[in-house]
Amino acid sequence: MTTESQVQSLDQFARWGFTLENPDNHVVELLHEGELVARFSQSGATKESLQKECAQHLVIEHGWGFAGRPCCACKETITGDDTKASAIMLQKKAKWDYPTWGNGLDGIGGRAIALVCGKCLEQNRQPEYALKLNGDDWTDPKDIELVPLAGLEDAG
Ligand SMILES: [Zn+2]
Repeated sequence: MTTESQVQSLDQFARWGFTLENPDNHVVELLHEGELVARFSQSGATKESLQKECAQHLVIEHGWGFAGRPCCACKETITGDDTKASAIMLQKKAKWDYPTWGNGLDGIGGRAIALVCGKCLEQNRQPEYALKLNGDDWTDPKDIELVPLAGLEDAG
């Protein structure tokens, strides 16, 4: 895949500030407003993998659509007016692809992410679950699974 067609494969994400860079012939870097989001091999930078990283970045880092997703501490659904809801980067190894953080940036691989509602954050309540996406659709609650942290390996 050429860089130009990779850029085209970003579709609407290109309008939302995502760009691609080729630091060398083997690597494709996805950036958002100049900040490194993910690093791919040339063959790994498919339209699907690029757009999934873009969507995940907007949801996790920029709070797009926490609403309707479960809080990983109290399991209540996070409401649209909960402006304090946050994503927490866990030091646990994820056995799934999305959502995770640290992909390829340090060579260690994906780690799990928890979403916590504003109320739990205020009460300093710790997440007991990690968020796992089973399908492709961030907006479908059926695709979202809560995985108990107790069953996950620590990331060293
Ligand atoms: Zn909560």
